[in-house]
Amino acid sequence: MLPGPNYIYQCPTCNNLMYHESLASGNTFNAAFYSDGKLISPDLPSYPKITKCTSCRSLFWVGHLEPVASCEPEDMESSEWASASEMQFPDLFDLLRALDEGCAPMRNEKIFIRQQILWFFNDRLRAGYPLFRDQKDQLLWNSNIDELLLLLGTANDHHQFLMAELHRYRRKFRQAVDLLNSIEDPELKGYVAKLITACEMEVSTVIRLE
Ligand SMILES: [Zn+2]
Repeated sequence: MLPGPNYIYQCPTCNNLMYHESLASGNTFNAAFYSDGKLISPDLPSYPKITKCTSCRSLFWVGHLEPVASCEPEDMESSEWASASEMQFPDLFDLLRALDEGCAPMRNEKIFIRQQILWFFNDRLRAGYPLFRDQKDQLLWNSNIDELLLLLGTANDHHQFLMAELHRYRRKFRQAVDLLNSIEDPELKGYVAKLITACEMEVSTVIRLE
């Protein structure tokens, strides 16, 4: 993994300076890919696509802004960007607020945020904790799946893959298998067989595929 420059941004609401790191090169060696679409790759770290200003807490999409500057990591401290704070990944509360405040008007933005919410819950299982802490969690999990199913369609294999996953969480294994069987993307084909086996074994939680 070879680090690239840090990219510096200004909050569109309050002009607070923030930065994210970048990679000149990375790889997916030792990466783990999960059935909910999450890739955890120690040698290919990612930066937030949506973030909360560290000063005024307003939410914004990083890709909608142009960086105001770039700076080599080792030069940051002595540069005019020394006071910039590192961008943080949104937490569950931020993601829900982004939806409430209309930060995601586009369908693909809503899908992105709702998939992040799904990952937030599944991360608990990945870390060996229960999926829900209380009944409120369970309601949120269920409503998020309902909304995602409304947003996804069968015109896109990746969407279909996620739809099958959501049906599997709901123990609708036959519907999940039907969706999996109609996926044509060769990149996903390798995972489809593993997921069909999971359906046959009535496994209804996220699984590691690679
Ligand atoms: Zn701000």
